[in-house]
Amino acid sequence: MPEHDRITTETYLSEDEFQTSIRPRRFDEYVGQEQVKKNLSVFIQAAKKRGEALDHVLLYGPPGLGKTTLAGIIASEMGVNIRVTSGPAIEKAADIAGILSNLNEMDVLFIDEIHRLNKSVEEILYPAMEDFAFDIIMGKGPAARALRIDIPKFTLIGATTRAGLLSAPLRDRFGVISRLELYSPEELVKIVKRTAGILNFSISDEGAAEIARRSRGTPRIANRLVKRARDFAEVRDSSIITAEIASISLKSLDIDSLGLDFVDRNLLNCIIKKFGGGPVGLETLSAATGEDISTIEDIYEPYLLQLGFINKTPRGRVATPGAYEHLGIPFNDGSK
Ligand code: ADP
Repeated sequence: MPEHDRITTETYLSEDEFQTSIRPRRFDEYVGQEQVKKNLSVFIQAAKKRGEALDHVLLYGPPGLGKTTLAGIIASEMGVNIRVTSGPAIEKAADIAGILSNLNEMDVLFIDEIHRLNKSVEEILYPAMEDFAFDIIMGKGPAARALRIDIPKFTLIGATTRAGLLSAPLRDRFGVISRLELYSPEELVKIVKRTAGILNFSISDEGAAEIARRSRGTPRIANRLVKRARDFAEVRDSSIITAEIASISLKSLDIDSLGLDFVDRNLLNCIIKKFGGGPVGLETLSAATGEDISTIEDIYEPYLLQLGFINKTPRGRVATPGAYEHLGIPFNDGSK
């Protein structure tokens, strides 16, 4: 099934538009990621004291964990404007030159999917990030000459799913590199309750816990599930999302008790049944399941690793006894 058909997909769906309006706007509304928030707060305070732009920041981690939200918070804590774009949207060197020239002093430029910038765009960014200037070539052939353009001091915030996807010269130009982690069920409970509140709908503690447990550690999914559960509650004339309503609505979406959908279960089943529990290499697993290697690595694997259902070994992925148990398959180490 294509990625966009799945309710548990971490990537942005058109029905997620409401999520933009419920984005936390300040650090104190932003749940979890305590270490990242603590570090960033210190850097922001220091930069403000010096009256300088904040160092360039790279945020990485699976989609839907709050990278864009955090970039917005950083800009508002710095008291500056944010310009939001993405790697694939900046096609040519001239596009990035235009964006950079239009920034104001200390502004934040947020580039989502920064690993997808093309080389000619990256090459403008290097001097822009380092010296707040870039060169453009005027004229052609022997008469060509480089013209240096100065730009305002700005902060680049890049977001990517894995820091390793970035070229080394680009990665090296970020002063702050922060990894966002999957959220704990307790943190997701807070997010779920906050979202229900903003949607003006009641949710019981058990209902919130049920949704939190089944959100794959991802706020974007948690918010989406709250919205679906609210629809279910409304259809049943209930003014509150109870544990029962949450559970029925999640079941109807084919999300199991731990938040796994059929693709996750298919991956685990494949490792266990086709490859004797592993180890199996990513490429083989991708061929056997029809899922992209990068989709497996960025979307499915982090949560399966967090649950302790798979282990990464030098020879490939291995299903753990916990995965067998969850799928109801007897685990027999010796008989493989
Ligand atoms: P990313 O850029 O990493 O894909 P987003 O910043 O778009 O993720 O976050 C997805 C949604 O999840 C946001 O609209 C926001 O409402 C919610 N969200 C993300 N992180 C948090 C958080 N720490 N606390 C509360 N809500 C969050």
